[in-house]
Amino acid sequence: MRVRVGAATDIGRVREGNEDAYLVEAPLYAVADGVGGHRGGEVASELAIDTLHRRFLERRGPLGEHVNEANRAVFEHAQRDRSVAGMATTLTAALIDDDRALLAHVGDSRAYLFRDGDLSRLTEDHTLVHQMVMSGEITPEEAEAHPHRNIITRVVGMEGRIEVDQIDLRLRPGDRILLCTDGLTGMLDEDEIRGILAGMPEPQQAADRLVQAANRAGGVDNITALVIDLAEGEDPPVETSTPVERGTIAPVPSRPAGPAARISGRRGRRLALWGGLALAVVVIGLVGLRLFLDTQWFVGVANGHVAVYRGIPAEVVGFELHHVVVETEIPAADAESLALYRDLPDGITADDRASAEAIVHEIRRDLSRPRSP
Ligand code: MN
Repeated sequence: MRVRVGAATDIGRVREGNEDAYLVEAPLYAVADGVGGHRGGEVASELAIDTLHRRFLERRGPLGEHVNEANRAVFEHAQRDRSVAGMATTLTAALIDDDRALLAHVGDSRAYLFRDGDLSRLTEDHTLVHQMVMSGEITPEEAEAHPHRNIITRVVGMEGRIEVDQIDLRLRPGDRILLCTDGLTGMLDEDEIRGILAGMPEPQQAADRLVQAANRAGGVDNITALVIDLAEGEDPPVETSTPVERGTIAPVPSRPAGPAARISGRRGRRLALWGGLALAVVVIGLVGLRLFLDTQWFVGVANGHVAVYRGIPAEVVGFELHHVVVETEIPAADAESLALYRDLPDGITADDRASAEAIVHEIRRDLSRPRSP
């Protein structure tokens, strides 16, 4: 099936930083909502998303296992670094494999299926109020206004190992999957979400509109929405899905018998050898490129905001050689208005992630300074 994705994240109207993170790296999609003082929430959600993605590229295997690896990474980091002790994050991921979606989920972010005009919730909130609703103690309506509705009962990064909910979904053309954080579902009821999904055929428009509506409704939390549309047809091959485990040399197909198979004997073998060698060079090149890109960082613009990217600010025959790791709330136009960051749209390269984040920090600081007329 063909997949088209729209993604939007926003700081909201109350919070001081965006602790949500998301991943759009076909065929893997995810949202994470970090919690924890200081920078803990940001660190937790980014680390979880990053680890999930890396594990997925390194080896196939159950998605739930990759989520558990993400859990361990956040847990161990929190143990090592006292400044982020107690940090944790939700993680809701979808792996699209033709007409199947595999979902893995921990926390109170959500996945929905929008099909034939109906919206159904695919995930269960791992919250205290959800447990109370399930046991009949309170009604779903009471849960929405409950003073303890933010208490999460299961989350990534708090324990060494966690139970991960997994859902295997058969997809149909026209299906739309929504992954979102509670900054969306806390502000909009499901009927409003359904209405927006029904009215916005373009996935990016739908994601943008959902975030906008949550902001209009108050925006008390960070808001993230990922809209994944499935349509009939084949997806073109994606550069980012050239993971290391595909770096094996495919056998050179044997030639058919008959007049076309005149190249035979030693010459045929030599051609096969050269073909195999050329293929090996291409495969090694792609793997090398991937490894190289994973070590490159720059600061650029995503959805009109200053963002930290992994990769290099370029594309080759339509393949982008980068992806967004953090999208900040800083409007790119503001940063570009400062002479120092005029080149932001072309990407300001950094030695590593820390340097990239330092650049973002500088931008934020420079913007908060009073400007000379
Ligand atoms: Mn949240």
